[in-house]
Amino acid sequence: MSRNRVIRCAACAGRIKPQHPHIGVEDLETGVEFSYHARASCQKRCVEETVTRLEAGKVFAAHHYHSSRCPDEAPGFGCAAGCFDTPMAVAN
Ligand SMILES: [Zn+2]
Ligand SMILES: [Zn+2]
Repeated sequence: MSRNRVIRCAACAGRIKPQHPHIGVEDLETGVEFSYHARASCQKRCVEETVTRLEAGKVFAAHHYHSSRCPDEAPGFGCAAGCFDTPMAVAN
């Protein structure tokens, strides 16, 4: 693992700065992690693509990476700093 690895959003192909909030969806079989911006449009793609991959029989773990300045250590949405846009769809 390189310390300077570039993270790209799987939805828009834009670069994600590691200190900015983003979502990681990790394939538990291969260890490959798909990253997405915290903004709503990329989250929507994240949900759609993850559903497609789940239907293919894969198993994932989702990680929420908060901003480096976020005071909230609890993972997930709705932190004190508002790192993540309101999700378009949340599976209950
Ligand atoms: Zn994006
Ligand atoms: Zn946060």
